[in-house]
Amino acid sequence: MSTSVMVIGAGPAGLQAASTLSHLGFDVTVVEQQQYLGGAVARHQYQVLMPDFSSGPELLRHLIERVNEDPHIKIYTGTSVEDVSESRDIFSITLSGAHAETIQSHAVVLATGFDHFNPARDGKYGYGIFPDVITGAELEEMFAKGPIRRPSNGEVPQSVAFIYCVGSRDRQVGNTYCSRVCCAVSAKQSIELREQLPKARISMFYMDVRTYGLWEDSLYWRSQEEAGVVYVKGRIAEVTEQHGRPVLKGEDTLVRGPFEWPFDLIVLAAGMEPSRGTHDMAKKFQVSLESHGFIKQAHTIHNASLTDHPGVFVAGAASGPKAIEDSIAEGDVASLAVFDYLKAKVTL
Ligand SMILES: Cc1cc2nc3c(=O)[nH]c(=O)nc-3n(C[C@H](O)[C@H](O)[C@H](O)COP(=O)(O)OP(=O)(O)OC[C@H]3O[C@@H](n4cnc5c(N)ncnc54)[C@H](O)[C@@H]3O)c2cc1C
Ligand code: SF4
Repeated sequence: MSTSVMVIGAGPAGLQAASTLSHLGFDVTVVEQQQYLGGAVARHQYQVLMPDFSSGPELLRHLIERVNEDPHIKIYTGTSVEDVSESRDIFSITLSGAHAETIQSHAVVLATGFDHFNPARDGKYGYGIFPDVITGAELEEMFAKGPIRRPSNGEVPQSVAFIYCVGSRDRQVGNTYCSRVCCAVSAKQSIELREQLPKARISMFYMDVRTYGLWEDSLYWRSQEEAGVVYVKGRIAEVTEQHGRPVLKGEDTLVRGPFEWPFDLIVLAAGMEPSRGTHDMAKKFQVSLESHGFIKQAHTIHNASLTDHPGVFVAGAASGPKAIEDSIAEGDVASLAVFDYLKAKVTL
């Protein structure tokens, strides 16, 4: 039997892991539940990526071509893991869907990613009720499909508000963590919006702005200084509707005054939650979750990809909110950790 590794999930992290594992000499099977590859980048058709405004479709092409052209990588889309058993450090993994078979694997990389927080779970934003309240992911899809218009009436929006930390840093909805990318993604989106809407009023309603590290200049300051975006530190009480326009009610916490402003379009920077697939795979492969429901990294500082189950590794947003650059880097980290783990056990 050749030395085989299964990668579950074909987003940026899983695709990178598959390619690197193959370079390291393993036979790789990638199992993806969807019919397409590329994870959230493909699902929401990200066109322009934060932080460097590079092309989403080009990144996908690069990641996908490498795995498609590699004779040591099998890609199983439309396929799920049904059952897992383990004997003498070899996993027997029974698949269902398009490729219903049982595969023996020496190691597994879980790259099952995240789901978007659904703002309808928190009624105060009017999401799912007022058509002009959309999520950041839906704005990405709007950028991909055509000009930005108000969903309610097809008109060009003259004012756009972003609400930060929707479903993140919020004890009431049960997600106390920061989703890490949404401040920067919103700043990127505001700069893109400005190109399409030169006269629109664009406002960001934030608790804190976390465009951390090197992203501060290229995103936060650029959105203000070049794109004329206004940042308001405020608490949002609710979104209502008047005369067919969503109205943002809250308090400006710097000047300590209430506001009630109508906008043509409201974009909710909805955070990242552990995906259902992440929970499901954690259970099937018997790895622990950390307190927010992401896969627990056994040694966060020592090696980001180790779980508490030998032979099972994690990469990307399955272990917590993160950007594409970190997810791809973790695909490599997990591959090297697999190599380290298997070199002592099998002949490579
Ligand atoms: C609105 C928005 C915009 C963003 N824009 C950017 C950006 O511009 N730049 C940036 O760096 N980051 C951005 N991000 C973050 C980016 O989406 C993530 O960093 C990235 O998608 C994580 O990659 P991943 O491979 O870990 O997970 P995912 O992209 O979530 O991929 C996981 C894959 O696993 C599959 N899967 C899940 N469970 C199973 C299962 N049980 N069996 C089989 N397959 C399974 C899923 O179908 C999916 O294809 C954005 C996030 C949001 C919310
Ligand atoms: S990245 Fe920004 S918007 Fe997202 S949860 Fe953190 S502070 Fe809130």
